[in-house]
Amino acid sequence: MGYRMVLEPETTSRIAIYPGSFDPVTKGHLDLIARGAQIFDQLIVAVAQNSEKDPLFDAKERVEMLEAVTFEYKNVEVDLFEGLLVNYARSQNARVILRGIRAVSDYEYELQMAMMNRKIEEQLETVFMIPAMAYSYLSSRLVKELARLGGSVKDFVPPIVEERLRAKLGAKS
Ligand code: ADP
Repeated sequence: MGYRMVLEPETTSRIAIYPGSFDPVTKGHLDLIARGAQIFDQLIVAVAQNSEKDPLFDAKERVEMLEAVTFEYKNVEVDLFEGLLVNYARSQNARVILRGIRAVSDYEYELQMAMMNRKIEEQLETVFMIPAMAYSYLSSRLVKELARLGGSVKDFVPPIVEERLRAKLGAKS
């Protein structure tokens, strides 16, 4: 008659951190957040305050946009962090770092970072997810470039981000 797999009840909830610059959040990020929210008990989207020297949106604006577009997910929260990601993960009791891989070109850098984080904190696992094909070429950098040149970013970012980009750069809708 085959067998039935018995799963042990979880004693602790699985908290994952999804760190990044999110300057600004794109539909690719959102795709990953939706996937992560289904797998983990709690997903903390953590905006790096010090990752880029000259961001288009300041950290507060990036958090505001993320909060608005993740509002519907009850197990997703948005936070800011500074300094070492490993220390932040520890402070949140998180055992998992979630990162997205779009193409092979992302892999090398992501692997380096995951290995470095593992060296610092053995218990911390990095989990990679891939977005829907439609977002596999999408980056915040390209969205900003497109917006700066007056192109439409409607297909790539949620409406609130489109509005903020337009206000800042005069992007077309
Ligand atoms: P960082 O500066 O840390 O790379 P980003 O905001 O650019 O921050 O990206 C945060 C994470 O989201 C990274 O793991 C990145 O690979 C992933 N990511 C970015 N864009 C996409 C996308 N279109 N699809 C899937 N993952 C993505």
